[in-house]
Amino acid sequence: MIDANEALQRLQEGNERYLAGEGGAASRQDIAALAAGQSPAVILLGCSDSRVVPEILFDQHLGELFVVRVAGNVASPEVMASIEFAVLRFGSPLLVVMGHTDCGAVSAAIAELSEPASDTPRNIKGLLGRMIPAIKSVRPHQDEDGAWMRQAVRANVAASLRHLLQTSGPIKEAVGAQTLTVVGAEYNLSTGAVEFLD
Ligand SMILES: [Zn+2]
Repeated sequence: MIDANEALQRLQEGNERYLAGEGGAASRQDIAALAAGQSPAVILLGCSDSRVVPEILFDQHLGELFVVRVAGNVASPEVMASIEFAVLRFGSPLLVVMGHTDCGAVSAAIAELSEPASDTPRNIKGLLGRMIPAIKSVRPHQDEDGAWMRQAVRANVAASLRHLLQTSGPIKEAVGAQTLTVVGAEYNLSTGAVEFLD
C-alpha cells in the first residue's frame, strides 16, 4: 500500500491531467459545456467498493450519471434524499440500484448474522442492520459453495429497490406517472459484466 502523501499526489496529478484534457474522460469543452447545468439520464445507487466505479464500467462521461455510492448500496435516508433530489430536479428517466458479487458489506452482514460481534462500531452496525432482514430472508439451511452470499447480494439489491419504491413519495409518484423506471443490477467483479435483474 502506498502512503497518504503519495495517494494525495496521485489525485493531484490526475486532476492536472484532467484539466489539461489528457485524462481521456473529459475534454476542456465538456467541462465548460456542463458548467451551465446537468441533466443526467441515469440515477445510480451503487456500492462504494473501489472496483465498482459506475462511470468507468459503463463507459459514461461527465454529466451522464447521477451517482450515489454507499457501502452495500443501502437506501438510507440521506441516500434516498439524494435520489429524490435528482428525480425532482432533473427528471431522469432511469434509476438503477446496482450491487456486485463478493460485496464486502453483504459479507459483513452475513458474518454479523452468523456470529454477532460485540465490538462492531456503532455506525457500521447501523448500516449492517439495514441490510440484515433481506439477507436473513435468503439464508439457506446449509450454505453450500457460497450460495448464501450470491443470493444475499441480489436480495440486498431487491430490498433497496423495494424500500425506495415503497417509502419515497417522489419516487413512487414518478414511477406511477411512468416518468421513472427502476431496475436492479449486479456487477460481476471477475468478468466486469453487468447483469440487469428482473
Ligand atoms: Zn460492495
